[in-house]
Amino acid sequence: MSYDTIIVGAGPAGLAAGIYAARGALKVLIIEKGGIGGQIATSWEIENYPGSPPNSTGPGLTERMRQQCEEFGVEFANKTYLDSQKTATGFIVETESGKLETRTIIVATGAEPRLIGCKGEQELRGMGVSYCATCDANFFKGLKVAVIGGGDTALEEALYLTKFASEIIIIHRRDELRGAKILQQRIQENEKISMMLDSVVAEINGNGLVESIVVKNVKTGEMTAVPVDGVFVFVGQKPNSEAFVAQLESDTQNYLITDDEMRTNIAGIFAAGDVRRKSLRQVVTATADGAIAAVNVIKYVEELK
Ligand code: NAP
Repeated sequence: MSYDTIIVGAGPAGLAAGIYAARGALKVLIIEKGGIGGQIATSWEIENYPGSPPNSTGPGLTERMRQQCEEFGVEFANKTYLDSQKTATGFIVETESGKLETRTIIVATGAEPRLIGCKGEQELRGMGVSYCATCDANFFKGLKVAVIGGGDTALEEALYLTKFASEIIIIHRRDELRGAKILQQRIQENEKISMMLDSVVAEINGNGLVESIVVKNVKTGEMTAVPVDGVFVFVGQKPNSEAFVAQLESDTQNYLITDDEMRTNIAGIFAAGDVRRKSLRQVVTATADGAIAAVNVIKYVEELK
């Protein structure tokens, strides 16, 4: 069985690419190692994707995209991409459960949360240290939590946590937040949220469960022990590009480099969404990348005939 394109990753970029490629009459397979939806599978509210209705959730939005893919005949398989080899007619894609044949590949593997890297973070992961408020907020009803980071994700998740936790402290390494002004305003207005600026977490402590953190003021060097029941870490992301960087050109942070048509340095391999080097990583830019990649795949496949 040979495909016109194998899309690696079923987040918004991969699903949008699937819709466009299948509408272009290509034979399309999307492989995904986890669930459908990518990073927004854990987003409780998507309010900036144009046209999304009020209270639109990440899982709701991507489930609709998945249905659209299936309506156009896209196939899905739960597989992990390991490697690929170029052949005379396309590529052999190696997965953990066998080989697949395709004319083209679209890499849409997205990005994943970065860790703080402090003492206690790994040991207490899942024991009070979390990277997903949607997944874990419910465990912190009436408790005190720290949110680390000052970007959009940290601010949105801090606001979400106010529905559960009794107190939220945002700990940010600079003297001003990075996230959108509208989120900053909501943070200022929320009585449950306080801030420790110019501060980083030096240690997370606890015996089996998180009990406290040590916060370092980066300007004065002062160390403060703060009792908390949970630590939510939102300090940015890193690309899921490990399986590709040996083959494809990437930047210093391992984001894949493409041209405006989503072409990588290897003819027939395209990349779309958060795994790419780009200035804005949003659902709307991921779906746009997916559409552009798929349209160029369609042209590429036609030229092969
Ligand atoms: P981000 O914008 O890169 O923010 C990461 C935050 O973590 C920054 O405040 C950064 O500090 C801080 N940080 C990084 N490394 C750190 C470390 N080792 N220790 C302590 N703090 C550290 O990442 P993001 O918030 O995950 O957002 C990623 C992208 O998705 C952005 O483009 C964002 O706009 C977008 N996004 C959009 C929405 C939305 O519009 N609804 C929601 C979520 C995400 P500095 O500020 O000092 O660099």
